[in-house]
Amino acid sequence: MQACDSLRMTPSRRAILAVLGQKRWHPTAEEVLQEVRRALPGVGLATVYRNLEVLREQGLIRIVAEGRDKRRYDAVVERHYHVRCVQCGRVEDVDLSEREWIEDEATRASGFEITNHELMFLGTCGDCARARRAEKEEH
Ligand SMILES: [Zn+2]
Ligand SMILES: [Zn+2]
Repeated sequence: MQACDSLRMTPSRRAILAVLGQKRWHPTAEEVLQEVRRALPGVGLATVYRNLEVLREQGLIRIVAEGRDKRRYDAVVERHYHVRCVQCGRVEDVDLSEREWIEDEATRASGFEITNHELMFLGTCGDCARARRAEKEEH
């Protein structure tokens, strides 16, 4: 592949990018498929998986989580931090400024030449916390 080889924008790739970019969310391939089918009803899950992989290789999207069995994708490739619900697996952005110093500390601690970092906070989302409280009240 040539360095300047620009990605061929097939209708399904275009639709997938549009779906991923329409809001700040981190859908699974199945969720992407549901949305893409509104525009392209004939598209199947295998096509979505294949194109997500191509778009990721091109650096247009990235994987933010591989929780349990499901990968979640993000159209925002600039560095930002995430929180994942340990109950339902949803991933949201955390609006924090970048912690550049953490790379210096990691360099000292690991001996690696650190060039990047990702941060994933874990917790319980509002919906799951409410559901758990409601469940407790029933008993
Ligand atoms: Zn949750
Ligand atoms: Zn994100």
